[in-house]
Amino acid sequence: MLDSKDRIFDNLYGFEPWNLDNAKLRGDWDNTKDILLKGREKITEEVISSGLRGRGGAGFSTGVKWTFMPKEPTGKTHYLVVNADESEPGTCKDREILRNEPHKLLEGCVIACAAMGAQVCYIYIRGEFINERYILESALKEAYDDGLVGKNACGSGLDIEIFIHHGAGAYICGEETALLESLEGKKGMPRLKPPFPAAAGLYGCPTTVNNVESIAVVPTILRRGSSWFSGIGRENNTGTKIFCISGHVNTPCNIEEEMGIPLKDLIEKHAGGVIGGWDNLLAVIPGGSSVPMIPKEICDEVLMDFDSLQAVKSGLGTAAVIVMDKSTDLIKAISRISYFYKHESCGQCTPCREGTGWLWEMMEKMARGEAKKEDIDTLLSLTKRIEGHTICALGDAAAWPIQGLIRHFRHHIEDRIDQYQKESNQNYG
Ligand code: SF4
Repeated sequence: MLDSKDRIFDNLYGFEPWNLDNAKLRGDWDNTKDILLKGREKITEEVISSGLRGRGGAGFSTGVKWTFMPKEPTGKTHYLVVNADESEPGTCKDREILRNEPHKLLEGCVIACAAMGAQVCYIYIRGEFINERYILESALKEAYDDGLVGKNACGSGLDIEIFIHHGAGAYICGEETALLESLEGKKGMPRLKPPFPAAAGLYGCPTTVNNVESIAVVPTILRRGSSWFSGIGRENNTGTKIFCISGHVNTPCNIEEEMGIPLKDLIEKHAGGVIGGWDNLLAVIPGGSSVPMIPKEICDEVLMDFDSLQAVKSGLGTAAVIVMDKSTDLIKAISRISYFYKHESCGQCTPCREGTGWLWEMMEKMARGEAKKEDIDTLLSLTKRIEGHTICALGDAAAWPIQGLIRHFRHHIEDRIDQYQKESNQNYG
């Protein structure tokens, strides 16, 4: 378990005010100038050697991503864009940072801009996060008034501007290129890659998009050192992570813990355990609605990090842990998730636009038991035709939850079909 002295987000629950004075008492903005004066190479090297992997779901090295930006001036503005469009069902970690630790994010933005030679940062905040935007805007004003952001930020000689942009509440704008389209005032539709944003991003300029949590942990890594961060967790899965635990637990919560904590410990020590006890557990979706569920036998042992969850054909995703006990109708639950992805598809590529609707309709039939057993393989085959064949990862996100259900709970679907047949025969027999 994470030692409290290693916690980065001391005010995650908002027990203390978020404002600048209190943030400084917690250590934020402490000698930021010295960090900035280390220069972009040293800052980036430190973040790479800390092992920090992006906290938005993909898990790519944050520092390495920064190196994709041009090393020399290009005559264009270079941008950092912070993805605060947190919309993955089950996920509510960035929201807590925005409303209780906004200065950690703003300081991280200044440092990340310096590390990439970016002059301008946009924070794209989810449309439904109204209060969070008010808080972030107030915090940004404090930072400008204190000389921490803007011309000669923190006295470093660097000019770094930060703007906050309020989205309109579309899930797909959390996809980085759709977010850039939306920022440019267009419909939030993902772009074909390449070109990647580091070459041609916002307004065609070099851009890096990072998640809120990835940026908010950077100041502490720079202050305490990369070896401190890399000493927490497991090899290749380092540092702390905010987990969001919801569903059939006694005390749903957000908790900052070390990467690689056993899932069972996470649930039992922080979320009051599964309702009815651990043996009442049926399955867990460990990383937000888009990752495949895992059954109790895997939950007994699995560690909560990128590599461990990938090894059991699931994923850490956003670390949103959705717990389902034996009272759950898993087929109906996945069908509801299918409806979500059908609804949120931007519609520009055929496998996703048409396929997500078919997935949902077939899942509804499965949930009622009206399907035939051979339809299960047809459904699985449909997920494979969508997965990897779309412009963005929403197609995969629609396919994976169904694949997880069939992989581990095919017998539930078959039992439902048998039950439906039995009841039909009784009614007509
Ligand atoms: Fe749009 Fe879906 Fe294609 Fe993504 S996969 S670009 S959401 S249609």
